Parts: sequence; structure tokens; C-alpha cells
Amino acid sequence: MIIGVLALQGDFREHRAALKKLGIESHEVKANDDLPGLDGLIIPGGESTTMGKLMVDYGMIEPLQKFAKTHAVWGTCAGAILLSKDTGRPQPLLALMDCDTTRNAFGRQVDSFEIEIPVPFLEPAKPDYHLTFIRGPIFSRIRGKAQALLQLPDGKVVAVLDGHLLATSFHPELTNDLRFHRYFVEMVKRTRAN
Ligand code: GLN
Repeated sequence: MIIGVLALQGDFREHRAALKKLGIESHEVKANDDLPGLDGLIIPGGESTTMGKLMVDYGMIEPLQKFAKTHAVWGTCAGAILLSKDTGRPQPLLALMDCDTTRNAFGRQVDSFEIEIPVPFLEPAKPDYHLTFIRGPIFSRIRGKAQALLQLPDGKVVAVLDGHLLATSFHPELTNDLRFHRYFVEMVKRTRAN
């Protein structure tokens, strides 16, 4: 299995390091030519406007949309924004998931914060998972077959699943906990088998 990590901008190195710890081979995706042969793709955190503009400049929007029809894709933070349909402001998006995002949406905690909560769908489910938010988005509207996967105690949705597409507003790649990467690797395996 080879998982691509979009490497136009942002914290793609951290995602690759996490995959390596799981023994999964990863490749940097900097152009459309890097897509063939990949089994799944991670879009990292960073700055969604910058990443979106680079995707447009490099003609990557349509090829990435096509890739995501048949492959598992996971966006973290800025990557989650790029997967969403709408942010309420004009910016290039992949618009692949049936949800909208509001950027920098954590009120006065706009810069960053961390919280530990139970995440029952992880393997193993204990201990609680340490979520790291850095100017992250919230999912403001979820429709169709997209579903809220994880909510904070105050009800804010911070992870969404839409078929083989996953979006998280926090940064598992910035922790030493590999359970979310393992969860995505299982998604890649299931999508590949279908
Ligand atoms: N605030 C950034 C954006 O709106 C996302 C931040 C991040 O990826 N850590 O694109």
C-alpha cells in the first residue's frame, strides 16, 4: 500500500512520519503525475487558501476530484476545509464532501487549544484521544450521506465521514498517537477492496 500526502504546503512531513511509524509507505504529491499508483491520499493542515490557489495553478483540482471518486482521502484542518463544499467566502475548494466549514471557528480560542475526549471508534478505544486544534475549522452544515463522526462536549462537530472521505478539524499528525492514521489506513484498505 502507498498513501500519497499532498505536499504543496503545510505539515505533510508530519503525516509522512506518522505513516512511516505504522510501516506504511508514503509519497509526496506535488503534481498530477504523482497520483497514479497511490491507494489513498492525505491533504495536510496548513493554509487552505494558499493550498487551493496552488492546486488551481498546477491544474490539480479536477485530477484530485477524479482520484477521490475511487480512493480514500483524508483532510486535516486546512485539508478538511478543502474537502468541504463551502466556507462562506470565495476560495478554490475540492468540494468533495457533503458539508460546509467555517474557518477559524473556535471563538476566542481562535489560535489553538487541546482537549482529551473519548473516541470510541478508534482501535483501541482507550485511552482518550488528545485533539490538537490550530486555528481549525468547524463543520457548520452536514448533509446527504455525510455524517458527524466526532463532536466536542459542547456539540461542535470536529470530524466528518462521507463514504470513503474523512475530514478532521484537528491534527493527529502533530501527536504521537497513531490511532487516527491507523483508522485511515483501514479506510484505504476497505476502499481498495471495493
Ligand atoms: N486556519 C487555516 C485555514 O483556514 C487552517 C489551519 C490549519 O490547517 N492548522 O486554512
